[in-house]
Parts: sequence; structure tokens; C-alpha cells
Amino acid sequence: MLAEIKGINEECGVFGIWGHEKAAELTYYGLHSMQHRGQEGAGVVVSKDKELTGYKQLGLVNDVFKQVKFDDLSGKIALGHVRYATQGGKGLENVQPLLFQSLTSGMALAHNGNLMNATALREELEKEGSIFQTTSDTEVLAHLMKRSGEINETTISEALNRVKGAYAYLILEDDTLYAALDPTGIRPLSIGRIGEAYVVASETCAFDQIGATFEREILPGELIKINQDGLTSFRFAPRGKRQMCAMEYVYLSRPDSDLNYVNVHASRKRMGKELAKEAPVDADLVIGVPDSSISAAIGYAEESKLPYEMGIIKNRYVGRTFIQPSQELRELGVKMKLSPVRGIVEGKRVIMIDDSIVRGTTSRRIVKMLKEAGASEVHVRIASPPITDPCYYGIDMSTKEELIGANNSIEEIGEIIGADSIAYLSEQGLENAIVKDKTINQGVCMACMTGLYPVAPADEKEMDISNC
Ligand code: SF4
Repeated sequence: MLAEIKGINEECGVFGIWGHEKAAELTYYGLHSMQHRGQEGAGVVVSKDKELTGYKQLGLVNDVFKQVKFDDLSGKIALGHVRYATQGGKGLENVQPLLFQSLTSGMALAHNGNLMNATALREELEKEGSIFQTTSDTEVLAHLMKRSGEINETTISEALNRVKGAYAYLILEDDTLYAALDPTGIRPLSIGRIGEAYVVASETCAFDQIGATFEREILPGELIKINQDGLTSFRFAPRGKRQMCAMEYVYLSRPDSDLNYVNVHASRKRMGKELAKEAPVDADLVIGVPDSSISAAIGYAEESKLPYEMGIIKNRYVGRTFIQPSQELRELGVKMKLSPVRGIVEGKRVIMIDDSIVRGTTSRRIVKMLKEAGASEVHVRIASPPITDPCYYGIDMSTKEELIGANNSIEEIGEIIGADSIAYLSEQGLENAIVKDKTINQGVCMACMTGLYPVAPADEKEMDISNC
């Protein structure tokens, strides 16, 4: 993934397991498979005899769990989280799961998404005497639930009805695991089984990683409770039309994951095919920008009956560049990370498929790199519509001022990045590639590409992008 270069960052992945002897260890493997959803911190909380114990730390999953003694984290119920942090929220206190201990019980929370009204709710709760331990909006839900004393499906439902935005929540209380998805189902959340145990995860690649089987999606507005009585489903809000984040399919999720019953790789291939139909061009070969654009490039090549070639390779052993703050260093990271394959592109008219363009700096460098390697023409085809608007639902992307698609026409973008021609996939083309069956998959959120927000911000405060 090149999230750190592109300027789009997933914000968090959640994993929960109920009823397995190796709950903490399986949480480690599950989180490891979702490392791309957050690389700034990771944590686990285990419940044994209704006692909650946790460990969390800043860093990659491997580094964090190296410190964990799994014997000290025995217990059959666990909750885990990987976190990407926006500026200002990078402290260890914000790493999740958040663990709250009281004299009578313990509670842990893990969240993926963004609560748009977190600031207003926080102000209200603070006025009423709540003292917050973190700057994370996740804690708001904990205070809302705790206000009513007991944690159960009723108090959780009441609290969820106060928050607004996109969220996939996992809550562990004593020996009960709860999972909830916002009424529009913007963020992904699925249930699986491993033996008799239940598993809940942001992406189904976590199920494959631990040998679990996919059971079903959690539905918009649904609250799941898992305890010794099995799994019970509650509805805390009317089931809205599901509008899963299109960017999860375009770029963010792993290709082997199925989101809302649609495989990510297969949807990317269809994006490439749609793009080839909409924007054909006379050329010699098709290449994709690794890794997230490879599937779309294969689809484009198949549809246009041109050879797919590996024209760019990615150096897998370069450290993460996003921790380096300056643009200059970020750009240096691009050079280190991607290299053209001269023997493939030299003297050729190349169609370069990319999944999206955020600032344009990466695309400009790649086009230049291909031309320096001898490509006679570079035609850029983007497997999604231009990104024009910010996301309020938990995906951290560049500000509107930095978004090349918000401030330039498509022709201007082509000129800026030095392409011989450029075309983007249409909104309809993207929807066609993702939504295979409207009764099952319903719709997708494309707000950052259309400006049409399924959950509209009410005021400036709700546009203040927080983090999970
Ligand atoms: Fe995903 Fe864009 Fe919608 Fe945010 S606005 S949820 S990134 S599609």
C-alpha cells in the first residue's frame, strides 16, 4: 500500500473474538492481517473470569506484540485494534482498545470511523462532570454509555443514538462482546466463526488469516451481542440504505477481503474494465502502479485486449515514509519505493493505471520516471472519479486546498502530471464496478468524489475531522 505517499489514510481496524482458548494470540494474527488499516499503534484487551487486562503500545503490530506475554493474557474473549493517528492524536493514551476499570466492572472499546458530533457531545459531557482521559472521539461513546450506569444493549443503543457519523464499534464488557455498525453502514464490519468461537473484524482477510469462516455482514443500525447465550441481534436504529465507503474498494482494503459481499480484487478488476470501455486509447501495453492499482490494470488490459506488463516495481523493504513530515522527504520516499522496468517500457506507448490521484505529486513523479526510462507515450487512466471533497467518515485525506481534483480540470491535471492523455472512471462506472446486486450491496458512499454526503455535517464543528 502507498497510503502514506498518496495522502489517503485508513483510520483503524478492529478485531474481536469470543470463546477461543487462544483469543489474544488470534487477535495478534487478525490485527497483523489488517496492519494496512493503521500503523501507529496497536492493542489488545482480554477478558478472563470477567476481569479485563490489556496491553497497547505505539508501533507496528509485530513490534507491539513482541512485548506481549500471551500467558499473561489468557482468557477466551479478546478485543484488538490497529490505529492510524491524525496530527494531534498520536499519544499512547489514544491507542486502542480504550480500557475503563471501575470497582464493579471493566469495559473496553475499539472503534473505526469518525463521530462528527464528538466535539459537541464532549462539551456537553464535560459540563456534566465527565473527565476525559484521551483526545479520541471514541471515549465519548464510553461516557455516554456509562452515564446510565449499567452497560447493556439498551444503554449502548441509547448512546449510539446520540452519536452521528460513521462507526464500527466493538465493546467488551465483563464477558460480553458487542459489535455495532452505524445506520448507513459506511465502514466495514463482518462476523465469522472459528470452531465454536465468534470473530468480528473490519476486513474478512483477518478471518482467512486465522482460519475462520465468514458468516455474515453486520447490518447498518445493528447491534450484536455475543455471550454464553450465543449471538443475539438488536436493532438500535432503522436500517438505512447501506452506503459502504467506495474508497475501501478503490484503494484502502486488502484485495483478498470481501466487503459487503463484494471481493475487493474483483471489484477493482471491474473498475479497470469499465475504464477501458469509457476511455480507450491506442497504446502498446498496460501497467499498474503497485500495489493497489494492479487489479484495475489487469481489468483494463483484459477489456482492451492489450498486454498487461509489470512496468513499475515496488521496493518492499523501504521503511514507511509517512512518518517523515516534510514534502521533500516524502517525495524522496517515492523515488525509493517505485522503480520503472526499463526493458518493458522503453520505446512503448504505455497506459498507466492508478487507482486515484490525491495531490498529484506522486503521479507526476511516476510519469516522469516512466518517460526517463524510455516510454514514448504515457497515458494515465484513473480507476475512480476525481477526489474533490474531504471525508468526514474516518478516512484521513489531504485538505481541499491540497486536492488536485478540487482545484483543477481533468485536462489541467493531465498537464500538471505530464501525461500524454488522462481520463478518470465515471461515478456511474465506479458504482457499477462495486454494486453487483442492489438488493444486497445497495449503494456506496462516494462523497469525496461527488460532494454528496450520506450523513451531512450540520455545521463547522461537525466538519472538524477527528480520528478513531
Ligand atoms: Fe469513503 Fe470517500 Fe465516503 Fe469517506 S467520503 S467514506 S473516503 S467514499
